[in-house]
Amino acid sequence: MQQEISEIKEEKRLPLRSGGKYYEIRLESIGGLGANLCGKMLGELGVKYLDLNSVSFSSYGSEKTGTPVKGYIRYCEKEKEIRIHSPIIRPDLLVIFHQALIRDERVWEGCDENTDVIIALESGQEKAARIPVRVKSCYGVRAQKIAMETRSRINVVMLGAMARVMGFTPLSKINRICEDTLGKKYPDALKGNLEGIKRGYAEIEELAGAGTGTDSPQNRRKSGGRPSASSMPEGGINPRFGSTVVADLSPSRQGYIPVFIKERCINCGFCDSACPDMVFQFAKGEYKGREMMVNKGLDYYHCKGCLRCVDVCPVNALVKGLEAEHPDKKYFLPNQDLIRKPDYYIEAGPDGYITSESYLTEKRMEGGEV
Ligand code: SF4
Ligand code: SF4
Repeated sequence: MQQEISEIKEEKRLPLRSGGKYYEIRLESIGGLGANLCGKMLGELGVKYLDLNSVSFSSYGSEKTGTPVKGYIRYCEKEKEIRIHSPIIRPDLLVIFHQALIRDERVWEGCDENTDVIIALESGQEKAARIPVRVKSCYGVRAQKIAMETRSRINVVMLGAMARVMGFTPLSKINRICEDTLGKKYPDALKGNLEGIKRGYAEIEELAGAGTGTDSPQNRRKSGGRPSASSMPEGGINPRFGSTVVADLSPSRQGYIPVFIKERCINCGFCDSACPDMVFQFAKGEYKGREMMVNKGLDYYHCKGCLRCVDVCPVNALVKGLEAEHPDKKYFLPNQDLIRKPDYYIEAGPDGYITSESYLTEKRMEGGEV
């Protein structure tokens, strides 16, 4: 990193781009990772502790775990006013809360050589280096791993990492906003959250070779990659149909999956009615000597791990299981109606960092006993 590793003690002036009025941050996330709260904390931070004017707001859909979430934060010097409340289209800092999102070209919209990027890495840095635009600098932090080890959340780890890259806020002030917000709500978890911030700050690292734009749409088209609106020839059509039905929801899972015990299943179909994402695969078959629609298995590619199906199953044919303990997913049956290209199913793997430890944290966060 260009700046010193040692903690910034005093806030500095906003690093505005040439002709820019605001320092603008865009958070790209999925429901359940805490980006909305992170944005609110950053907004409050500016006004309460940095002597700046600031505004923050989020955009999200149905608030389901796994749906896209965007957060927007603007800062400006106190003498100026913020009179715009529109989404940020040219971010000075882009923060990506899950590595899987880097595959979505819409996440990179408006990024250019003035944009710093932070990516929450899951494993290895190779994939993170394959980003489609040329940016100022690109950093990675193993946010999920740190969050698990400190019993905090990804959002606080990203806050620490952001403090380091932004360069104008001392870590102590990030800690104070965390104490104000999370400390009141979850006092037992405050120590872990502060540790998460500290480690996010200390362990962020620049990704060598990232941000050079070598994975541009044009280059990918040459190599046979998936086309997009920006990579299509003029006059062409965009074959990338958009809907939650074809989306890979596996990154939304937070360590748990519904495990199907077929021998218990009475083919009532309750799970199919409860599931919001067309995961269950029913087809003609035989049950107790009668021809009927039977449950053949789950398309885990579309499963976001909400476990509603487990709640409704009357005979415990679906049970909550730790994903890491079921890497093979015995009844993983791709939805034949939705397969357009086989590579949609390539990366439906487990969320490996989550262990049974997270369950303890989850209980504590809800006020239960550890
Ligand atoms: S956990 Fe169950 S209800 Fe939720 S998305 Fe997965 S299969 Fe559907
Ligand atoms: S709710 Fe349970 S018993 Fe009914 S079809 Fe689904 S898995 Fe089978």
